[in-house]
Amino acid sequence: PLVLGIETSCDETGVGIVRGTELLANVIASSMEEHARYGGVVPEVAARAHLEALAPTLQRALDDAGVSLQDLDAIAVTSGPGLAGALMVGVGAAKALALSLDKPLYAVNHLVGHVGADLLTGDDIEYPTVALLVSGGHTSLLLVRDLISDVELLGETIDDAAGEAFDKVARLLSLPYPGGPEIDRAAVGGDPTAIRFPRGLSLPKDMAQHRYDFSFSGLKTAVARWVEREQDAGAPVPVADVAASFREAVVDVLIAKALAACADLGVPRLLLGGGVVANARLRAVAEERCAAAGVELRIPPLSLCTDNGAMIAAIGSQLVAAGRAPSGLEFGADSTLPVTVVQAP
Ligand code: ATP
Ligand code: MG
Ligand code: FE
Repeated sequence: PLVLGIETSCDETGVGIVRGTELLANVIASSMEEHARYGGVVPEVAARAHLEALAPTLQRALDDAGVSLQDLDAIAVTSGPGLAGALMVGVGAAKALALSLDKPLYAVNHLVGHVGADLLTGDDIEYPTVALLVSGGHTSLLLVRDLISDVELLGETIDDAAGEAFDKVARLLSLPYPGGPEIDRAAVGGDPTAIRFPRGLSLPKDMAQHRYDFSFSGLKTAVARWVEREQDAGAPVPVADVAASFREAVVDVLIAKALAACADLGVPRLLLGGGVVANARLRAVAEERCAAAGVELRIPPLSLCTDNGAMIAAIGSQLVAAGRAPSGLEFGADSTLPVTVVQAP
């Protein structure tokens, strides 16, 4: 099926078009620059930017794919989770399109979309698979038995998301927003073993209770304390070492817990998704340790790891192919839609 996907959950206005699992267009307009001076996404600014960007982004996607709106079999839209005001722009636009074109409309879960991005590589996802979702707002470990009907939440962060930790630590080091790529750059040449920062929820007593959960706020505080101590002592802060050591702590705990889930559940497959997967060290460590553990690793192309409309279209296309009933026009933006709800009714 030919499906249009609309994504406006955060600061990226994304419109993608797929035919089955074939990617025809993936256009993204970001309001990141506008948020940079605030050090994080400002919801009102994001919502307004979506309003301005949506129509031209849609037009470019149609041009790229060489299709018209009438050709579409269905429309899919992110209905949650995300920023309520931002989500509402996409949901409203998708409803208007579906109604005026008389096309079925599917309300798709953004987080499942991040996993579904991997479908667009053209290879089928083998089930069951463990999926690690790491983004600016989420850090979740999932057991996916079937992408559109059986997604189980194994664990998640109990405080900050991994991407959020990158953004906050970057700010501590006076690096600009978004922090992920900045830390990656700053860590080049740094020694990842220079400072032993804490691995959240990894002590035996924590593993008993929070085996698949994550915590990054203690790590952030540890970095802040360490930097303060150096500054108080009048020493120059070794930014490369701090960045490399911090990044190592995040990556170490992410991959360790993901592989623990693979081992516990006897699932020799791990899929990574979300914007933090752009991290160079995360990819390297994942490859190394998965190979050692005999776990097959899948990472979608980087352009599909950060927020985009194509991943939403990909899920929509799966729903259509499975004969699922459309979502109707009653659903609204749901900022806390749980990952287990793949399609909002
Ligand atoms: P969510 O998907 O949970 O709603 P989001 O949409 O903000 O959150 P994404 O767009 O998927 O998340 O990812 C953005 C996050 O990825 C930011 O926190 C950013 O710092 C982080 N990020 C981007 N590149 C890198 C990198 N190279 N290393 C680490 N983190 C990175
Ligand atoms: Mg984003
Ligand atoms: Fe996202």
